[in-house]
Amino acid sequence: MNLSDALFDYKHIWHPYSSMIKPLPCYSIISAKGVYLTLKNGQKLVDGMSSWWSAIHGYNHPVLNRALKKQIQKMSHVMFGGITHPSAIALCRKLIQLTPSKLDCVFLSDSGSISIEVAMKMIIQYWNSLGQNRKKFLTILNGYHGDTFAAMSISDPNNSIHQIYNNFLPKNFFAQSPVSSFHSSWNKNDLVSFKKIIEKHSLQIAGVILEPIVQGVGGMNFYHPTYLKKIKKLCDYYHIPLIFDEIATGFGRTGKIFAFEHANVIPDILCLGKAITGGTITLAATLTSRNIADRISNSKPGCFMHGPTYMGNPLACSVAYANIKILQSNEWQNQVLHIERQLYKNLLPLREHPRVIDIRILGAIGVVECSQIINIAMMQKFFVEQGVWIRPFKKLIYIVPPYIISTYALKQLTNAIKKALNKKFLFI
Ligand SMILES: *Cc1c(COP(=O)(O)O)cnc(C)c1O
Repeated sequence: MNLSDALFDYKHIWHPYSSMIKPLPCYSIISAKGVYLTLKNGQKLVDGMSSWWSAIHGYNHPVLNRALKKQIQKMSHVMFGGITHPSAIALCRKLIQLTPSKLDCVFLSDSGSISIEVAMKMIIQYWNSLGQNRKKFLTILNGYHGDTFAAMSISDPNNSIHQIYNNFLPKNFFAQSPVSSFHSSWNKNDLVSFKKIIEKHSLQIAGVILEPIVQGVGGMNFYHPTYLKKIKKLCDYYHIPLIFDEIATGFGRTGKIFAFEHANVIPDILCLGKAITGGTITLAATLTSRNIADRISNSKPGCFMHGPTYMGNPLACSVAYANIKILQSNEWQNQVLHIERQLYKNLLPLREHPRVIDIRILGAIGVVECSQIINIAMMQKFFVEQGVWIRPFKKLIYIVPPYIISTYALKQLTNAIKKALNKKFLFI
């Protein structure tokens, strides 16, 4: 980045969760291939983030590129209102094939947050068609479902800084999040808070929404599958639809195509995003059961009231289709298993480090929970010097590398983490 570009960026461009006065430093990436990001100065970084869980097969993938090129020669986009096209049809067939048979109707949208908004609107319309005015959602603390208003209203009140938007956000119900971790034994006290709320407010609650198994931004906790089973039972008992947010966990990240497979619980609505296009273009999907779709369609307006301009974008659909086809070659299972095994070997021993509270590993996710708050700017700089791209937050250093990562490159990631833990100046 020449000075003027860097300065322009600094002065004029917002980055995610950034300040316009004193933004955290940004690194200029000029290309990416496989598991490597290339900086302006030619230095290559091993990517530990998959661009926020998205680039599961690595960057510049020839099959994904080919899908995009082939589609761009036909058409980049065409409106979805009153028009359909082969790329959307092929993708939706694949999504329905990939998900449990109960999930039968697909709504395509632009981003994860929007797929959540869509799910919530659907649920409200569903109750409307049943003649019930239900507008409250039940979720658990430490969740994250996106940055739009409805999505914020079900995300953890502290993480989403609810007090800033206090008078603007709908008020929803928050149960305690489960304490039983994925690999420990189930503690039935975990259900108490959720059960209390659902029993007391069952007639007000329109839907229950959760990230299954992995709570991402809210603390990178992996909770016990039994929790989902119990939640599902309670939802069934009170006839409350269950929505799963698999925007981060979907498409193999946890060692199953979907995280809900760890618990064998099938939701009524499923939100997908992030890895759906293999990290190439933004796209999301909300899948529902036929029953919910029919109810919505029977409600007053006789249709579902949402329709983004770029809905069903052909480029995004064609590359998502190619991405899922790569997954269906089933190499991902060995790749994710390989990552998980290596994390057990190279990351787990860091548990003994005095600056470490906990190490959590599930599928291709490795989390180091530190005892101190991390100086993000400093640690990021340190990681770049070590030749890796890892973006920590709060007390958490986590990696979600592309599935194709080699033993050598993954070792570079875990070695860099190990080194960082020894540097006092990287912590506050
Ligand atoms: C990233 C994420 C979202 C929001 O998706 P965007 O595409 O950033 O809008 C929602 N839920 C979860 C679990 C996520 O990880």
